Amino acid sequence: MKTVLETINGGAQYLEKRGVEDARRNMEHLLAFQLGCGRMQLYTQFDKPLEEADLAPLRELLKKRSERVPLQHILGSVTFYGRDFICDGRGLIPRPETEELVEMILAKAPQKPLEILDMGCGSGILGLTLAAERPESTVTMVDVSEDALSLTRENAVKLQIENVRIIQGNLFENIAGSFDVIAANLPYVPTGEQQEMEPELGFDPALALFSGEDGLDLLRQFIPASFGFLNPGGLLAMEIGHDQASHVARLLESSGFAEIDTLKDLSGIARFPFAKHP
Ligand code: GLN
Repeated sequence: MKTVLETINGGAQYLEKRGVEDARRNMEHLLAFQLGCGRMQLYTQFDKPLEEADLAPLRELLKKRSERVPLQHILGSVTFYGRDFICDGRGLIPRPETEELVEMILAKAPQKPLEILDMGCGSGILGLTLAAERPESTVTMVDVSEDALSLTRENAVKLQIENVRIIQGNLFENIAGSFDVIAANLPYVPTGEQQEMEPELGFDPALALFSGEDGLDLLRQFIPASFGFLNPGGLLAMEIGHDQASHVARLLESSGFAEIDTLKDLSGIARFPFAKHP
């Protein structure tokens, strides 16, 4: 019989050998998932022997993870800004930086009922979080991918978030009206980076990651178009790649935006361009 601690140690070693980053934390998540408890609860039962009824399915989970299926897909959920979202291959796995973007938007957006747009909503984490944090506002969520939109819809139902409008379309093609805030975490990875990426990233939809040779194809369309959909004084907020800040600032300027300011993420990378419609 193996105990909880022995199982964690053995599994962590197995995953580490197969190149999984943060192997022990991954193993703890998988075991907690199998046992139906929280990860922290494992620490209070290190000596508990595990039944084969739990070990057999755990081996399957470990095998999947060793094949580099992302942890979030195996668990089927991910916590973002304190809420549990359904997570699978229909949308991009939320990145921790995007929580910083939410925080910044909430700090800058005026405290009153707003019309907010989330362009390229994917799994829905950005727009649904803004909707939940600002229940007096309405969030329009747009994506070109029907798959992503079905995930957004499921997440809206799961989290009981009703102040949203969900619309399919390529950028603004199906959008009417104007907005006080437009937020966007659009694909921005250069196509050429595909080869160098960790295997886990192959489980994200390519459509949500890549945007041409320099990663800026979609932003070159989106930034000038967004200007026409913002109310005077309205705020544009984006997430971009690590070396795109100056290029994006120029696009913002030539599109007529004012008060352009690219805020840094926690690693010090200029990651979040903010700008205002004058
Ligand atoms: N930050 C993500 C990555 O580098 C990309 C997210 C995006 O393209 N919007 O994997």
